[in-house]
Amino acid sequence: MTNFRRCACCSGPLEPAQQLRFLVETESLDSPSFLARIRRLPTRRGRPVPVCSGCQAEIESAPPPKAPARAGVLAAVGILSAGWLIQTLLLGPRA
Ligand SMILES: [Zn+2]
Repeated sequence: MTNFRRCACCSGPLEPAQQLRFLVETESLDSPSFLARIRRLPTRRGRPVPVCSGCQAEIESAPPPKAPARAGVLAAVGILSAGWLIQTLLLGPRA
């Protein structure tokens, strides 16, 4: 399990509020809609990363360069789902 008492960026001690956020967000991975509403921490491979509030503020003011790649993946997923939807609507369910 990830050590949530240390910041993943600067290895400094994590504030109790940030520890709680990390635990709640990790527990909520099974309910994405709930997680989307409460999510505050940065994520790595879809999992919340424990960072102190100082590093979090830095990350939020300077988004990581990976952001465009993730947008590309989301776009690809969107195109795939749209293709599936169109196929289902036009061709109907396969018998
Ligand atoms: Zn930090």
